[in-house]
Amino acid sequence: MRPIHVIGGGLAGSEAAWQAANSGVPVVLHEMRPTRATAAHRTAHLAELVCSNSFRSDDASASAVGVLHREMRALGSIVLKNADHHQVPAGGALAVDRDGFSQGVEAAILGHPLIAVERGEIVGLPPADWDNVIIATGPLTSPALADPIGKLTGEGALAFFDAIAPIVHRDSINMDRAWMQSRYDKEGPSGGAAAYVNCPMSRGEYEAFVDALLAAEKTEFREFEGTPYFDGCLPIEVMAERGRETLRHGPMKPFGLTNAHNPSVNPYAVVQLRQDNALGTLFNMVGFQTKLKYGEQGRVLRMIPGLEKAEFARLGGMHRNTYLNSPGLLDACLRLKAAPRLRFAGQITGCEGYVESAGVGLIAGRLAAVERLGRNLALPPPTTAIGALLNHITGGHIESIDAGPRSFQPMNVNFGLFPPIVEPRVDEAGKRLGGPERGLARKRALSARAQQDLAEWMKAASYDAVNRHCEEP
Ligand SMILES: Cc1cc2nc3c(=O)[nH]c(=O)nc-3n(C[C@H](O)[C@H](O)[C@H](O)COP(=O)(O)OP(=O)(O)OC[C@H]3O[C@@H](n4cnc5c(N)ncnc54)[C@H](O)[C@@H]3O)c2cc1C
Repeated sequence: MRPIHVIGGGLAGSEAAWQAANSGVPVVLHEMRPTRATAAHRTAHLAELVCSNSFRSDDASASAVGVLHREMRALGSIVLKNADHHQVPAGGALAVDRDGFSQGVEAAILGHPLIAVERGEIVGLPPADWDNVIIATGPLTSPALADPIGKLTGEGALAFFDAIAPIVHRDSINMDRAWMQSRYDKEGPSGGAAAYVNCPMSRGEYEAFVDALLAAEKTEFREFEGTPYFDGCLPIEVMAERGRETLRHGPMKPFGLTNAHNPSVNPYAVVQLRQDNALGTLFNMVGFQTKLKYGEQGRVLRMIPGLEKAEFARLGGMHRNTYLNSPGLLDACLRLKAAPRLRFAGQITGCEGYVESAGVGLIAGRLAAVERLGRNLALPPPTTAIGALLNHITGGHIESIDAGPRSFQPMNVNFGLFPPIVEPRVDEAGKRLGGPERGLARKRALSARAQQDLAEWMKAASYDAVNRHCEEP
């Protein structure tokens, strides 16, 4: 049988190779380290953790990443198996001994009879006779591969200083202060003259906000060689440094908006949030890219009226990142529409985080294997963590209605990506639940539904299952 070629032996590539080989398909895994280094990796090991040693919360009952851990364990993940084996104490988080972890993954891969590891950089597009390829080269994909992928997808450069605006859970916004309206009540292409959430500020609130921005602690900007900025993506704190009025004439301009709660008073400034996913559960803060430290972001952004109790699905940041505009470019099975022999996995697809990258690698490896075996695999339902991630990458995100940088941003798994569920109002004893208890009950219900749906999918997911989503390329 002809092998599947996996390019990149990081979190996603190692998991993809493992899953494909365990399905009975030979794999060649190509990793450029140590022949060529990246700006962040320090060793030659497969599945190296470039920064923190944490896989985040392991609480499968109330945390989306904990649910993803549970699903990956159930699906035989080599990454989770080694994370569990090399665990170090970290409270409710799953943290690992980083060297033990990556050496463990590497030993498993090297010991697998169906996997061959080849060290060396893949330069240019993979050779034409590689008919089933998984590209899992991560946020630091070498330019010799990123450039031709960029040309193939028509995207020009794929590597950016990624300016990221925070994303807020819609149900944590105080709509007694905020209101829905599009500027000048203008309808977007998908309709809706009231598409934005608007948070008004008085002059005093604006001045206090600018002071807090100027005083807040910023992260050091990690420079990576030769990577361009997106135009028009200055962090809000840099705009504030340029002048106290700059924000009010930029992302916080109050024009064309009437405060529904107080129509006779013009707001001095307005912060807008735009729907970020098709479900309408997540909203991003328009033009609010920032490199404030994470703790500072929570404190300063909650000064905005309406966001006093905001819960963030992701915080803002700037770092180099190479990723595809996947919702437009990939099919539901992670294949490049323009060249279906190329499948993508890991952070390059627009997920973010070690666990998410490995999770997308897991499903990519299985999909590549069934394709090679001439069989089908139904996709995991979007009510599971792995299905929700896949859905976000390949279609769940809605494109921005505004001109400017692309709106699809890498994201950690979070419950906002799951289809909503009817929130329990009473506990098992019939007692009425208060606000925070209801939030917890909602997460538990989402987790329980995910568990049940994954089990059903695994039962039904024989390789001969009818696949409605992924016709042959
Ligand atoms: C500086 C930085 C810090 C991060 N910190 C964290 C963190 O603390 N926690 C977290 O959860 N996430 C973090 N991330 C995000 C993300 O989770 C990690 O980058 C994660 O490793 C992504 O997994 P991956 O498999 O997609 O890519 P990687 O793990 O980076 O694997 C990609 C592999 O492809 C190889 N490669 C690249 N180009 C080629 C080529 N042309 N030919 C052959 N091989 C190639 C690379 O050497 C690498 O081994 C960070 C990202 C960056 C850039």
